[in-house]
Amino acid sequence: MLHKVLPVGPLQCNCSILGDEQTREAMVVDPGDQVDDILNILRESKLTLKQIVITHAHIDHVGGAMKLKAATDAPILMNQDDYALLQMLDMQAAWIGMRPPGKVHIDEAVDEGKMLKIGDITGSVMHTPGHTEGSICLYLPGEKKLIAGDTLFAGSIGRTDLPGGSFEKIIRSLHNSVLSLPDETVVIPGHGPATMIGDERATNPFLQK
Ligand SMILES: [Zn+2]
Repeated sequence: MLHKVLPVGPLQCNCSILGDEQTREAMVVDPGDQVDDILNILRESKLTLKQIVITHAHIDHVGGAMKLKAATDAPILMNQDDYALLQMLDMQAAWIGMRPPGKVHIDEAVDEGKMLKIGDITGSVMHTPGHTEGSICLYLPGEKKLIAGDTLFAGSIGRTDLPGGSFEKIIRSLHNSVLSLPDETVVIPGHGPATMIGDERATNPFLQK
């Protein structure tokens, strides 16, 4: 699998570009900004974008989705529990001093257990509410990788003080869902460096019993 992680926008959201080497099909997760850079990577790698996956409806993760869709015709996938938050993008833009991205239209709702495929690569959607109601992680068992959005970071977890956030729910999602994954799973968080489930299980201060 081809996998490029591109930190985009003022908040440096980790945008993932995943590609199948055989079929040259691609998936982009969290195109928050810098859509021209994302399109360049797709072009240089000779990839055709099939799906745009949004881990949650915060502007730094979803801000470039419509521009990327307009350029590629790929559908936008997100969990339905973040639709309300998606209606507040203008307010979110004002909070962080970004230009409002306009309305984002979701083509398909994705919930717990939904399988997403590009070529031979399979990703399974995990619904992990807490950072937002509709936060999801994408688990790629064949690659031993988790794209975690803002649910889990190296040494930390997503903030829960924004609208739709719940500390109780994020802790439940982490213990019941994320920590059930094997220790050797590589975690690509929504911001900052990669980590591993085993390391977070052992040392993340929010995950200690
Ligand atoms: Zn967020």
